[in-house]
Amino acid sequence: MRTWFLLVSTVLLATTSITAFAEDAVAGSSVAGATDYVADGRAPLGELAQRFAELDQRHGWSVETVYTYPDAPDLQIKAWHTRDPGPALWVLSGIHGEEPAGPNAIARELEAVVAFARSGVPVVILPLCNPKAYRHNWRYPNTAERDWKKGGYSVGDAEYLLPDLEQGLTPRDTQAAGPETRALTQFVLRLVERYPPKLVLDLHEDELSTEGGYIYSQGRHADANPVGAAVGELLQASGIPLRRSGQTRFGETIVDGVISRDDRGGPIRDGSIDELFAATDVFVDGRKRRGPTAESVIVVETPAFAGARFDQRVAAQAAVVRNLPRLWSLNDALP
Ligand SMILES: [Zn+2]
Repeated sequence: MRTWFLLVSTVLLATTSITAFAEDAVAGSSVAGATDYVADGRAPLGELAQRFAELDQRHGWSVETVYTYPDAPDLQIKAWHTRDPGPALWVLSGIHGEEPAGPNAIARELEAVVAFARSGVPVVILPLCNPKAYRHNWRYPNTAERDWKKGGYSVGDAEYLLPDLEQGLTPRDTQAAGPETRALTQFVLRLVERYPPKLVLDLHEDELSTEGGYIYSQGRHADANPVGAAVGELLQASGIPLRRSGQTRFGETIVDGVISRDDRGGPIRDGSIDELFAATDVFVDGRKRRGPTAESVIVVETPAFAGARFDQRVAAQAAVVRNLPRLWSLNDALP
């Protein structure tokens, strides 16, 4: 992880003026400051940001700033996408700041993402959706508290766009949970018009799961989804045990490592950005309209309990990223 950081720094040193070097040094110190949490082995925020910036700076992808924090202007939620639109692969990671394996795996396997896109598939990637919480090892952007009942909100909370659970006649909430939540979900709604999601991968971890990893499957092909099954195999091949059966702590049934139904056997409706991608209907300005309607939304959960090996979790998520061509074609073959 540090190798490419040094490489980038070396190139900058070699090609920029003394003035530019000074600016680079200042920027570097501000984004990889002393407050960055790195005790679990994660790359500091500035290192990740530099790596992801290669997508636009070296590979010519479009970059969009989704959100800039008013109290930390150096901190931004960013999205990258290929220049050609069309039915797309979406990759999200770092929704929760205490789940670092996904963003670090994407940084490690960035070339695999670029190579996959070169095969002609439109790609949208949001590799670090919650940079503020990542920096502090928080779960939510607004508080160190892990328990959402104590005021934390998720950057991926889409309830203000999703139909209510009873009759679906009104949005589930009156407004977005927070400013970055609003920015992120509005960005998704805007971009799915040109990059409709065929396959969505959302890389998470579960610090309360001591028994192994598991997968959520949503979308038009939620049940028995071959991408979900393949991701499960990849986790296992990386040494992550898979929770093959039983229930999550939310009462959902696990079938061969995959959860595709809620605790009552219905579609998963957790109000998350994953449900937003899968949604057939959304509410925009009080009016119901067609939602993103993704074919497959696969949420990867590696176990991140205290003592779980960080390198192994990153390796497992990296295996998922390296196998994008196979996962995409499995999804493509769905009826
Ligand atoms: Zn999570």
